Amino acid sequence: MDERAAVPVTLPRVNPTISYWQDPPDSEVADYLSSEQVPETADTIIIGSGITGSLVAWNILQSADHGSIIMLEARQACSGATGRNGGHTKAASYRSFHDNAYSLGTETAVKIARLEYDNIKAVHAFAREHNIDCDLYSGDTVDIVYDQQQWDNGVKSIEAMRKAMPELLNTVAKYTSWSKEEAREKFYVKGEECVGAISYEAGSLSAYKFVIGVLKMALKKGLELFTNTPATKVDKGEDGIWCVQTSRGVVRAKRVVLATNGYTAPLCEKFQGKIVPLRGQITAHRPGKTQPIGGLPTTYSFIYKNGYEYMIPRPQGSKYEGDIIMGGGLVMAKEEGLEEFGTTDDTTINEDISKYLTETTPRYFGSNWGKDHEDGRIRKQWTGIMGYSPDGFPFVGAVPREKNLWMAASFQGHGMVLCFMCARALVAMMSGDDEKLNSWFPEAFKVTEARLEKKFMGRLHTKPVDVEIRL
Ligand SMILES: Cc1cc2nc3c(=O)[nH]c(=O)nc-3n(C[C@H](O)[C@H](O)[C@H](O)COP(=O)(O)OP(=O)(O)OC[C@H]3O[C@@H](n4cnc5c(N)ncnc54)[C@H](O)[C@@H]3O)c2cc1C
Repeated sequence: MDERAAVPVTLPRVNPTISYWQDPPDSEVADYLSSEQVPETADTIIIGSGITGSLVAWNILQSADHGSIIMLEARQACSGATGRNGGHTKAASYRSFHDNAYSLGTETAVKIARLEYDNIKAVHAFAREHNIDCDLYSGDTVDIVYDQQQWDNGVKSIEAMRKAMPELLNTVAKYTSWSKEEAREKFYVKGEECVGAISYEAGSLSAYKFVIGVLKMALKKGLELFTNTPATKVDKGEDGIWCVQTSRGVVRAKRVVLATNGYTAPLCEKFQGKIVPLRGQITAHRPGKTQPIGGLPTTYSFIYKNGYEYMIPRPQGSKYEGDIIMGGGLVMAKEEGLEEFGTTDDTTINEDISKYLTETTPRYFGSNWGKDHEDGRIRKQWTGIMGYSPDGFPFVGAVPREKNLWMAASFQGHGMVLCFMCARALVAMMSGDDEKLNSWFPEAFKVTEARLEKKFMGRLHTKPVDVEIRL
């Protein structure tokens, strides 16, 4: 993994694979340019137009004295991880709670679980409040578990959550367990035999459409957007003003926000090996012939010994309703996916992962999948670049020893349940209003020198259940 973490991170590549969500791209915003050249100065420069950058812009724009805001995007609008993800707003907090409580204490583990839950609720509420048409589904999800150890870990972690947050038994800590027989009937998993299933509140949306909606609202409030405009260098002048070089000229500003996720290192060297790109892959399956009429009842994950897949049936009424979005399969690639770390190449797919993901639907659903659609099982497949940190948490706040350089990046495969609240927290910090954050924002997410010392070891694995935590 050391070698992979040391691969020099590049800027976003040209000609990425085309994701399901960006086909076609939004005709108004995808290639938006506020002007041919960037202005000479701005109050704030945001680099990156994914869910983080767009919501940082939106939050800044809520204050009366927001000043001028420029957003730079290397490719089309929202064409990083957000425009290429699964769109699962699924926290699965019980899968990390035990580990978080073990390494950071129960209080922080509760804060993280609450933030994830609140983030889901906030994204769904925001989409509804602003009428953003993004194929939103708010409802249950299920984890179909195929490995006894994973099942035991889950059960014990849920018990720990219930003890630690008795006042949240109907929200954050609400889980329902199902036997393997119940799982077969209720969730149609008539293929490979599972240990059991766990269901809870979650949702899904087109993150691309959501962000395009946010960007349109931000543009109306004065955001200046420059797509297809990579920021190539970020330097501080002697006067303390930041100078950002772009393909459309140089812009200077009092403050800069890096919302660059897996691509942060080329602009801020101290993140080389600390935010490591990881390529994720997704296949969109046309529904099998015996899939239940009216669609599947929830979104899914399939959890096995050393990995997982996540699956989102496209909701009724959406384009290609009933299609199955299936992502994951990392550990099925050569050396458990080692070569997917450190790469920013989302212009190609990994053939091993492609083959594996293609076979998942009939394997999990068995007779409830049936014959393939006459146009073939796979409608589309694509890749996208995530940003992974050594401790598995995002970096949110001021970049150490750099005045007025801010960041919110490294959201692993989990940004749909983190970025909304992290953007809110970052803007509070930038406004000097961060005292109120202590009650809900985990210190563990802030950017510290100590976190930058940590060594990147890959995706973190959950600790066995016999590792005791103090409640
Ligand atoms: C295949 C895949 C599936 C996923 N599925 C899920 C899921 O189902 N649920 C979930 O919670 N999370 C999922 N994730 C993770 C989630 O998508 C991310 O955590 C989240 O989108 C991060 O958002 P962001 O805005 O911080 O980063 P991004 O969306 O990556 O945005 C960063 C932007 O910065 C731009 N940029 C970078 N460098 C520069 C530069 N120098 N100049 C100009 N622009 C620049 C990039 O082009 C990009 O548009 C998935 C990710 C992938 C790749």
